[in-house]
Amino acid sequence: MSVTQLETLPISRSEFLRLEIFKNVSFESLAGYLLGCKTVVVEEGELLIDPDHPKRRLIVILEGLLEVRAEAKGGSFSSLIEAGHCAGEMSIFDNIKPSAYVYSKVQSRLLIIEPEMALAMIHASHDLCLNFLHMLSQRIRNNTKVVCEEEYHIRCIEENAKVDSLTGLHNRRWLEEMYTREINRSNAGNFRLSAFMMDIDHFKQVNDTYGHLAGDQVLIAVAKTIVECLRPSDMPVRYGGEEFTVFLPGTSTENAKIIAERLRASVERKDILLPSGEVIHATISVGFTERVEADTVRSIIERADKALYHAKENGRNRVCLNLDGDDMFLF
Ligand code: GH3
Ligand code: MG
Ligand code: MG
Repeated sequence: MSVTQLETLPISRSEFLRLEIFKNVSFESLAGYLLGCKTVVVEEGELLIDPDHPKRRLIVILEGLLEVRAEAKGGSFSSLIEAGHCAGEMSIFDNIKPSAYVYSKVQSRLLIIEPEMALAMIHASHDLCLNFLHMLSQRIRNNTKVVCEEEYHIRCIEENAKVDSLTGLHNRRWLEEMYTREINRSNAGNFRLSAFMMDIDHFKQVNDTYGHLAGDQVLIAVAKTIVECLRPSDMPVRYGGEEFTVFLPGTSTENAKIIAERLRASVERKDILLPSGEVIHATISVGFTERVEADTVRSIIERADKALYHAKENGRNRVCLNLDGDDMFLF
């Protein structure tokens, strides 16, 4: 290439060598193609790639910064492309209109390469081809990471919606999903499953005597005691106000009775420290039952609830079993 031709090139040899996209590429092998390219300076905020008005071209950022913005179904994705890298290459390769908008984030100087020229350069240099593969791999990895993080974030929000913020136990929303899954699993495999329905005794009096914040403290303490008395596979839920349910997968009536009694006694023994410094005690009544054939979440909970009602009617701070058919056994 003559000196005059070199002088008319849009970028110098030293600038070429600094660009990541031309890493390991011999300047001489591409200089002839560069003659047919041009550089432009764009101001901040200029739209360079527009899916609504597609125009295939490869943009190499010589100086400055570009921003890629993609939007789909209410979600959006944004990333930056730094000097040395390029934009518009996907449409060059697949000849499909771009899926994202590309803006200049700051004033930028760009090398514009027409598609035929870009493809000719790639044919002429294996190293340039490798650089594109390397850059695209990095982008796929980054995008995958962003998608996974987003998914994790959504899961966290969904999970939080299923947790009661006061006690940290799961709530009714979680119960609907998980209890249904558990009862279907137990029905299908004919596995044993027991269910508790529990309610704090005279809880209204706690609120009336010590105040609502003290009541909250009692709820937290009872929930903590419940969790401490159960196995990790058991499924405690804050059912509503001061009512709690538990599904105990793989638990027979005999074992459920032992656990229910242990739970009742643990709550009774528990010293509950109020914000005022006073220590009070609470008791719970527990109704329980075991799964029978074709039970639903509703039918098993209703049976446990009847047992709870029976325990309340018979003095509170008691455990009551409802065998199928509403045969009550007080303990
Ligand atoms: P019983 O022994 O028959 O269950 O009597 P109880 O007083 O416990 O029953 P009742 O259903 O009359 O009272 C429940 C009370 O629980 C009424 C309600 O104000 C209170 N409550 C419900 N949710 C909360 C809460 O999140 N915090 C507090 N502090 N109180 C609550
Ligand atoms: Mg109560
Ligand atoms: Mg109640």
